Amino acid sequence: MRLRKQYLTKNDCYRAGRTIRPLGIMIHSTGANNPSVARYVPGDDVIGRNQYGNDWDRPGLEKCAHAFVGRFADGLVGTVQTLPWNRRGWHCGRGKNGSANDTHISFEICEDGLEDASYFKAVYQEAVELTASLCKEYNLDPLADGVVICHQEGYRRGIASNHGDVLHWFPKFGKTMDDFRADVARWMEGEDETVTYEQWKEYMDRYRRELGTQPASQWAVPYINKAIDAGRMDEVNGSIERPQDFVTRQELATVVSNL
Ligand SMILES: [Zn+2]
Repeated sequence: MRLRKQYLTKNDCYRAGRTIRPLGIMIHSTGANNPSVARYVPGDDVIGRNQYGNDWDRPGLEKCAHAFVGRFADGLVGTVQTLPWNRRGWHCGRGKNGSANDTHISFEICEDGLEDASYFKAVYQEAVELTASLCKEYNLDPLADGVVICHQEGYRRGIASNHGDVLHWFPKFGKTMDDFRADVARWMEGEDETVTYEQWKEYMDRYRRELGTQPASQWAVPYINKAIDAGRMDEVNGSIERPQDFVTRQELATVVSNL
């Protein structure tokens, strides 16, 4: 899980300042095709920045979730926490038996076009890890009745407005809310800490992409400039490509052949 914090302090929900004792977690999805978290938060260099001033950090919206899961600036998935977890959120309206706003922490998963399996896999896993960490923090059992529910399940229980999320999306990729709860419980037990080879390759790929976005260390800059000036390595944006990433034998051979 990649968690950043950017509270929406101008949102009326934040400013209302009411607190809850969290008894569960409600999962939502945004209902709009925009996977960037910066659609909903002002953002920063890591999250990406909202260019249109239409994020939720403003008055007059009458809605606010505790977190958003979606793409950051680097295209990888992360979570931005937007309210303190024990603040009373405005995420699910009300049903005939009351409102989960009074009991449940909420997060929104940013929807894309709902066709991309790799995006779904990434946000689903992020949502599992986020829910697991919240269940641990608040000592909640994700398999207990009514604890981890989606908006649609909240509606059926009479504690939320009539929305379909997330059951218009998860089943497209073979996941039910029972699967989700089971995955959260498994993650909490630590079963999934055993990394499979396929996961390791994914992590390695992700790690290298992260390294690839980092600028050169200050001490290395003169040597990099020297290598560029001597024509031994190619210049990319005033430095070399991916200065902090690993070098392969074939890349080394290319550099050596330029000596
Ligand atoms: Zn919802």
